[in-house]
Amino acid sequence: MAHRVLVVEDEEDIAFPLVRTLEREGYDVDWVDTGQRAIDDLSSRTADVVILDLGLPDVDGLEVCKQLRSSGFEGAIMIVTARAGELDRVVGLDYGADDYLSKPFGLAELQARVRALLRRTGAFSTADDDQPEDALRIDVEARRVFTGETEVGLTGKEFDVLNILLASRDKVVSRGRLMAEVWDENWYGSTKTLDVTIGRLRQKLEGAGVTERVVAVRGVGFRLEAPARHA
Ligand code: CA
Repeated sequence: MAHRVLVVEDEEDIAFPLVRTLEREGYDVDWVDTGQRAIDDLSSRTADVVILDLGLPDVDGLEVCKQLRSSGFEGAIMIVTARAGELDRVVGLDYGADDYLSKPFGLAELQARVRALLRRTGAFSTADDDQPEDALRIDVEARRVFTGETEVGLTGKEFDVLNILLASRDKVVSRGRLMAEVWDENWYGSTKTLDVTIGRLRQKLEGAGVTERVVAVRGVGFRLEAPARHA
């Protein structure tokens, strides 16, 4: 069954190409142009991903986000905003969104983010033909990791680190973000514990025959890289 994506955007010029692109990716896409319509829509059926504009004509996007979460909506929420300067503040306040994108954004970037969100929320089926059979698979709810049929036994912290890296596959995740999200400390302290965890995670992945690699990007952070594919 196709994943359902709800686009909440009042500007047609932005909404149309977005909807078209996502439909071409095979998603079941619906579009609403006000916050109230988004809340109404999601009260009667769910969505795997909501792409939520902040600048809506009626209810502020953040308010929509808050209401959706408090009503128990469990799908992924990606906030898009032209108020790029506000992103840091918005992220810090934690309204329950899963990802943020500032306008203008490229459609390829959006596609990649939606895919990552679906992966992170475990909504991707194993039949995803984009993935080789031995690909790393993560069951977020059960907190279990598999490669093919084999489970990779990870500790809580190792799982958390891998989950973040996997959600941003092929992108660098900063040390600061990993420290803040996994250890809930500020990153001015020692990051030795992070390095130790990464080291163990690497060993376990390699030992299980996982082909993805955790690559260190000097002075910045880490990136989960898929092996080069031979098409
Ligand atoms: Ca808008």
